[in-house]
Amino acid sequence: MRYAVVSDIHSNWEAFAAVLDAAAAEGVDGYLCLGDLVGYGPDPDRVIAEVQERSMVTVRGNHDHAAFDAEEDRFFNDWAREAIAWTRDRLSAEDRDYLSGLGLTASIDGALLVHAAPSAPRAWRYVLSAADAQAEFPYFDETVCFIGHSHVPMVVAESESEIRDVREDSARLSSGVRHIINVGSVGQPRDGDRRASFGIYDPDQRTYRLVRVDYDAEATSRKILDSGLPPFLGTRLLSGR
Ligand code: ZN
Repeated sequence: MRYAVVSDIHSNWEAFAAVLDAAAAEGVDGYLCLGDLVGYGPDPDRVIAEVQERSMVTVRGNHDHAAFDAEEDRFFNDWAREAIAWTRDRLSAEDRDYLSGLGLTASIDGALLVHAAPSAPRAWRYVLSAADAQAEFPYFDETVCFIGHSHVPMVVAESESEIRDVREDSARLSSGVRHIINVGSVGQPRDGDRRASFGIYDPDQRTYRLVRVDYDAEATSRKILDSGLPPFLGTRLLSGR
């Protein structure tokens, strides 16, 4: 079984479609989704429909939560708050129900899925360094924990003080060692590479590979400007920051 692991799609249809094409070309058998389907971007309904259509195993992100519960956006910056208010107005009652029905964690095939941090999934804490990751290992039993939230790809092995090199050719996960893996963001990368990011995970072979995919970021950026969302959310897609 090989899975495409996607996170932080953020209503970016063009990036998501490019990722799905790339995953299909890789011949994946299933999809795991780490949340933040919506927020920031112009196509929330289309992204939700596609996640449902493909029966992705999905957990809830902080933007998904704020899309059905306005209280949740109090920690958001101004652009994020404006965008989630726009999203809340646009979603159907069924879409909001779908997001509110998502769990905070899921365990599948030896992997824990959580949007932010396994120690407190609802606190939306960022795991940004190897030290942050080491503090999280006691809070799950699975061999791998997949996370998103920071929009920056990362692989950390248990008891190691360095983040591993996650370029596209580094595939093998050391056997008998647990890992925390951030797959990066499909719809709003922030590591300086504007290409959409996702992971391919094979629990049987114990391999993981990060994949970057080019997509028409100019088209999404234009849609953001045309839809009345904060213009900065369009321009940042072009720089990947
Ligand atoms: Zn996000």
